[in-house]
Amino acid sequence: MLRPGATVDSWCGKCKLLLAHTIEAMVGDRPARVHCNTCKAQHAYKAHGPGESPRQKIAREAGGTVAPRAVKARASRYQVLLKGKDMALAKVYSSKESYAPGDVLDHASFGVGVAIAVKDSTKVEVLFEAGPKVLIHGR
Ligand SMILES: [Zn+2]
Repeated sequence: MLRPGATVDSWCGKCKLLLAHTIEAMVGDRPARVHCNTCKAQHAYKAHGPGESPRQKIAREAGGTVAPRAVKARASRYQVLLKGKDMALAKVYSSKESYAPGDVLDHASFGVGVAIAVKDSTKVEVLFEAGPKVLIHGR
């Protein structure tokens, strides 16, 4: 139970640490003034240090939002496909070339991608970091 004279963890602006403090005054059920058991400085009760506001803490505990997770899933598929590929072997994309699944190619607009499926003799599906694209090949 928090009450004057009890010990509570508070941020100490002098020690720059979360330390044991002694409560001097309460406002409702919350410590208002405390003094640092380490440096004896009196100051307002602060549950968090700078850069760790309760709002940031809640966001972190919620595990972020859904959107970054979806982006991560797609990026990881791309990264898995590129894993173990030798970037030096990436072929500069040309519609005159023919590609097979697993081929790494370097496209002027989309960057490095991996061929994932040959649609037919003139179309190949390539996964780029931004997502899959169907490109012309074998012309
Ligand atoms: Zn202190």
